[in-house]
Amino acid sequence: MQSTPGRGMGPGLSPVDRRTLLVCSFILAAALGQMNFTGDQVLRVLAKNEKQLSLLRDLEGLKPQKVDFWRGPARPSLPVDMRVPFSELKDVKAYLESHGLAYSIMIKDIQVLLDQEREAMAKSRRLERSTSSFSYSSYHTLEEIYSWMDNFVTEHSDIVSKIQIGHSFENRSILVLKFSTGGSQRPAIWMDTGIHSREWITHATGIWTAKKIVNEYGKDHILTNILKSMDVFVEIVSNPDGFAFTHSMNRLWRKNKCNRPGVFCIGVDLNRNWRSGFGGNGSNDNPCSETYRGPYPHSEPEVAAIVDFITAHGNIKALISIHSYSQMLMYPYGHLLEPVSNQEELYNLAKDAVQALYEVHGIKYIYGSVSTTLYVASGITVDWAYDSGIKYAFSFELRDTGRYGFLLPATEIIPTAQEMWMAIRTIMEHTLNHPY
Ligand SMILES: [Zn+2]
Repeated sequence: MQSTPGRGMGPGLSPVDRRTLLVCSFILAAALGQMNFTGDQVLRVLAKNEKQLSLLRDLEGLKPQKVDFWRGPARPSLPVDMRVPFSELKDVKAYLESHGLAYSIMIKDIQVLLDQEREAMAKSRRLERSTSSFSYSSYHTLEEIYSWMDNFVTEHSDIVSKIQIGHSFENRSILVLKFSTGGSQRPAIWMDTGIHSREWITHATGIWTAKKIVNEYGKDHILTNILKSMDVFVEIVSNPDGFAFTHSMNRLWRKNKCNRPGVFCIGVDLNRNWRSGFGGNGSNDNPCSETYRGPYPHSEPEVAAIVDFITAHGNIKALISIHSYSQMLMYPYGHLLEPVSNQEELYNLAKDAVQALYEVHGIKYIYGSVSTTLYVASGITVDWAYDSGIKYAFSFELRDTGRYGFLLPATEIIPTAQEMWMAIRTIMEHTLNHPY
C-alpha cells in the first residue's frame, strides 16, 4: 500500500479516551513497526449509472494512492467499497456529496478491527503453544504456515508431499502440497490461495482444505474416487512476500513486493500479470496502481513459478484460484465479454457448485463469467489457464459481502472453508466424470 496511514481518532470518544488510544496505538505501532489505520474508514457507494461509476473511477486519479478500492467500480448493480485514510475522509465525502453519490460507512474505524484480529491471533498462539497443536480456526503468519506444512507432510507422508516450485522476488520458497495415491503425471486438479496477500481468509481456507482432503480420503467416496485416479495440488501462500508484509508492516497489502530500478512504487498485481489478454482493460500500466500489471507477461517470479509448473506438468484438468471478498464463483473470460466455447457447461457446473455451497450454511454466492459477473479484468489467472487448455478454470471470491471485507473474523474461517469445500468437491467430481 502506498497510502498514508490515518492519524485520526475514532469518533464518539472522550478526550481522555482519545489520548489513551492515541498513545496506545502509537506505542504498539512503533514497537511492531506496523502501519496504523486509526480513523480510516471503508465507504460503500451504490452508483446509479455509468456516469456515477466513472466519477468513482476518477477518484483514483484525483487522490492518487489515497483511495484504496476494496471492491472497485464495476457495474451499477454492484456496490463499490473503498478505504479512505482519515486525513482524506473530509475531502472524499465532500466529493461524493457534491456529485450526488450516496454512500454509507461500512467500517467506521479499520484499526479497531485490526486490533481485534491481532488480539485473537495472540490468544490462539498462546493456546497452540501450550497444547502443541495447530488451530484451523485462526489466522497464521508465513512462518507458522510453513512449519505447519512440514508437520502436515510428515504426518501424512503416505498421501501428501511438498514441492518447491520457485522463489519469490525476495527469495522466499514457493511451496505446493501434492496429494497423490500413486502413478505419475496423473490428471490433476490445481488450487491456489493467497495471490492477493491481504485476502487472509483464502490462505486459512486452503489450509483447512488440505486437512479436509487427508481426513476424507477413504471416507468420502467422491474424494476417494478422485484421488484414485487424479492428483490434487494446493498452493497455499501464492504471494509469500506480500503475505509476510501483511503481518510485519501493512495488513492491507495486495500486490507482490517486486522493486525494479527506476520504478518509484513497489509491487505488481499478480492477478493482472498473466499472458492471456495482458495489458488490456481492467489492468493498469502505472506501477503505483493496485492493479499494476507489471512490465511484461509472467514478469513476476510468483506467476512464472505457477506457469512453469503447470506447463511442465502438462496434465492439469481443473484450476481453482481463490480470492476474497464478494461471494462469487466465476469462470473465463475476464478480458473478453464473449462467452467461452464451453460456457454453458461452466455455467451449469458453477450453478451446481454454488447450490452445494448454499446447502451448508445458507450463504449465497453469485456466479457467471468474470467479465459479466464482476468486471473486465485482463491478464488474470483463469484466462491464462483456459487459454492453456484447462477447460475447467474457476475463480472464487469468498466471504463476506463487505461487513468486514478483507478483515473477516477468524470465527468465520471454518464455515467459509466448509461451504467452499462442497463447491470445489462438485467441480472436482465433474472433472473426474468428464475426462478430456
Ligand atoms: Zn484477490
